[in-house]
Formats: sequence, C-alpha cells, structure tokens
Amino acid sequence: MKKIKHIVFWFIVIGIILLLFSSHVIAEDVFLRQRQELVNVIKDDVTMTSDFLDQGSLDERVLNAIGKVPRHEFVPDDQRPYAYENRPLSIGYGQTISQPYIVAIMTDLLKPKKTDRVLEVGTGSGYQAAILAELVDSVYSIEIVKELGEQAAENLKKTGYNTVHTRTGDGYYGWETEAPFDGIVVTAVASHIPPPLLKQLKPGGRMIIPVGGQFMMQYLVLVTKDADNNVTTRQILPVRFVPLTGKH
Ligand code: SAM
Repeated sequence: MKKIKHIVFWFIVIGIILLLFSSHVIAEDVFLRQRQELVNVIKDDVTMTSDFLDQGSLDERVLNAIGKVPRHEFVPDDQRPYAYENRPLSIGYGQTISQPYIVAIMTDLLKPKKTDRVLEVGTGSGYQAAILAELVDSVYSIEIVKELGEQAAENLKKTGYNTVHTRTGDGYYGWETEAPFDGIVVTAVASHIPPPLLKQLKPGGRMIIPVGGQFMMQYLVLVTKDADNNVTTRQILPVRFVPLTGKH
C-alpha cells in the first residue's frame, strides 16, 4: 500500500512538471508567432511613412532583431498580454517602453555596424538596449530612475544580454569615460540637442533624438557628424515621447 502511494505521489509530481513545462513551451510559441506578426505590422507602418523616412523598408537585421528579442520579458506581468501590440506600454514610475515601430526606425536610422559602440539615453525596460545588443558589439545605456535601471539590468540578464553596460545617472551628460560613440540613441524628448552628447559622438557618427516640448510638437531628429566634425540635422517625423528629465 505504501509503495502504491509512493508511485502515485511521483506520478502526480511528474505530471505537474510536464504540464508546467508544456504550457511554458506553448506560451513561448504563441509569443514567437505574435513577434512575427509584429514584424509585418512594422513593415506596413514603414511603407505608410516612407515619405517621412525617405526609405520604404528597414534593414533586415533590424527586423530580425525585433523578431527575436522577447519583448514580453521586458514589461511588467500585467502588460504581458499586450507585449506584441505595436504601441508603448507602461513600465511603472510614469514611464513607458517605446512603440516597437519607433524602436525599429530609431535603430535603423543609426545604421549600426557590428563593431560599433552605441550609447542609449533612457534605458527604461532595457528592450531597446537588447535590440541594439543584437546588432552591435558594445552597448552602453543610462537611466535616470534608479529602480527602472535596476529592473532593466535584471531583464537584460535574464534574457541573456549580459554584454549591455548599464548605469544610473543623467544621460544628458552622456557617458564620458566610455566615449566616443559611433551611435547615440536618446529615448526621451529634449528641448535641444545636448552638447555633451554631440561632443561624445565620433566623427562619422549618428545620433537619433526626439526634440521638442512635453506639450508641444516633437520631432525625431537625425544628427550626423561628418569626418571633419561638421554637424547636420534632419527632422524625420512627428513623435510623442516622455521628457528627458534631470537638472541640466
Ligand atoms: N528605451 C526604453 C525601453 O526600451 O524600454 C524606453 C525609454 S522611455 C520612453 C524613456 C526613459 O528615459 C524613461 O525610463 C526615463 O526615466 C528615462 N529618462 C528620462 N530622462 C532621462 C535622463 N536625463 N537620463 C537618463 N534617462 C532618462
């Protein structure tokens, strides 16, 4: 009798483990399909906004990164069901994870090369940093809200993006000890292009930054610095971002 109870006990335990494992596999499969659908939605949005972008498609490598990075691992549990909708989602502290279409075009506009060093200002959830880590060797990301920075570092670690360097601080001043950068992406709106970031951009480098006011028009701006340090800016398209905060 004791032996039968023992066998039944282990039968139940193994059954529960198998059930949990298979539901995890099914969920991951659903997320994978949702990510692939998201890539198609982004492609359509790019076609619709091609006049603004001055291009009708994005680099396949960027689209592959969107199709690979598990956005559901970068949002709070209550937002997971919406992780693959093409819209920003709340990540707490009054902040958001950006709309995937915006993440895709900002990444594409950087024209990232494998050997690049890229700085991100506004780590938020860590999602954009993970996308960048799929494309370049060195990613540095600064977040002003300590709790978000810590959560993002955890998100990046659990998803295997261990090479992303993160820290808490005011990204307006960049990351001087790690400069210069081939690319800089700012994910909060600034009233002007921060001079320290311009200084930390390499000759030949590109910066993508939303510029405008919190309650006024905001535009995504592409800043390029040529080999002779001449700076040019190009307004890409109207956007809506949370403000770049700090005491600068
Ligand atoms: N890139 C993020 C992601 O993938 O989840 C989304 C960024 S969210 C739209 C903007 C982030 O910028 C917020 O987390 C906010 O706290 C941060 N931020 C605002 N001002 C900042 C500053 N001066 N320095 C660094 N981070 C800042």
